[in-house]
Amino acid sequence: MTFEAADRVDSVPPSGIRRFFELAEEMDDIISLGVGEPDFSAPWAAREAAIASLERGQTSYTANRGKRELRERIADYEASTHSLQYDPDEEILVTAGASEGLDLAFRALLNPGDSIAIAQPCYVSYVPGATFAGIDVIDVPTRAEDEFKLTREVLESSGAAEADALVYCYPNNPTGATMTSEEMASVAAFCREHDLLVFADEIYADLTYEHDHTSIATLPGMRERTVVFNGFSKAFAMTGFRLGYAMAPLEAIEAMNRIHQYSMLSAPTTAQHAAIEALDTCRDEVTEMAAQYDRRRKYVLTRFEEMGLDCFPAAGAFYAFPECPWDDAGEFAESLLQEEQVAVVPGTAFGEGGSGHLRVSYATGLDDLKEAMARIESFLG
Ligand code: PMP
Repeated sequence: MTFEAADRVDSVPPSGIRRFFELAEEMDDIISLGVGEPDFSAPWAAREAAIASLERGQTSYTANRGKRELRERIADYEASTHSLQYDPDEEILVTAGASEGLDLAFRALLNPGDSIAIAQPCYVSYVPGATFAGIDVIDVPTRAEDEFKLTREVLESSGAAEADALVYCYPNNPTGATMTSEEMASVAAFCREHDLLVFADEIYADLTYEHDHTSIATLPGMRERTVVFNGFSKAFAMTGFRLGYAMAPLEAIEAMNRIHQYSMLSAPTTAQHAAIEALDTCRDEVTEMAAQYDRRRKYVLTRFEEMGLDCFPAAGAFYAFPECPWDDAGEFAESLLQEEQVAVVPGTAFGEGGSGHLRVSYATGLDDLKEAMARIESFLG
């Protein structure tokens, strides 16, 4: 007997983004616009709270669902910022990143053989996560002409009506697309009509630049069928703390916690202390970081226009998604990396609908962004 990956693991290719980073790591003087995480460090007060909790010796597990103090603050935060009302005792589960929450939802709320509609291009872990859970995937490719928004038309034409659940992320990774409340209302109507559960990844909810974020769970008839995922990785720049949360009606949280209590026990304790402090005192820093992303976003969009690269005005997260001037975006990204030492990610890494585009992250300081844009311009020239 030797070790071999199980079939469902073997069927999932390694992440297209990773391969790219490995290539980039071997080179010098790289400017990476390939990263999917903030270039800022976590707010200092949150880091200090983590250190203080360690000094106090708070190094044990917490309640499976997370510290009550934290769940209360999450409930208050979500109520005040996104108009979401969830009971901290019954309807919130603190997880090791939004990633764990999504994985739990796939496994705890769907059966093998069920199907999930996945709006694409999308964050690289949805399709593998569904596959690991034995769930069939229905690709829902959003379109450049719709600015990568999820529309009733693409839901209908992709067969999403047959699915048991829908997963999407707005503001979106990799496109930077956002959805207005009217646009979200038409997705909600479709989900009600076809009785779909919704897994709403709202990890970028606080990084919007043109209009406020609308959570689908605030729309009529949606709260009871939706799990909302959020966390501290993006807006609070706390990726390494590995802390997120899921919000849903009791039945869903109980089912997810059934797995979580055996597989994770509880989310990282030190990170929970940091997160309490982040919600108490670090909101101004979130606003300041968002303002900086917005300045960079405007700069990048302007530069793309000057270069004649078609790019819709992405209004959220920290990504722009310009059209690739070459037929093969993978080849373009590889040549750009080799000739100009600028890393961007080909849209194909993010599933259906991403081909012909490049994901450009502006979670990079303005000086580096300026240099990167100059190099891209020279490459195009
Ligand atoms: N969802 C999306 C859309 C993401 O971009 C990311 C991180 N790149 C995650 C989830 C994972 O977040 P976390 O660090 O909370 O697990």
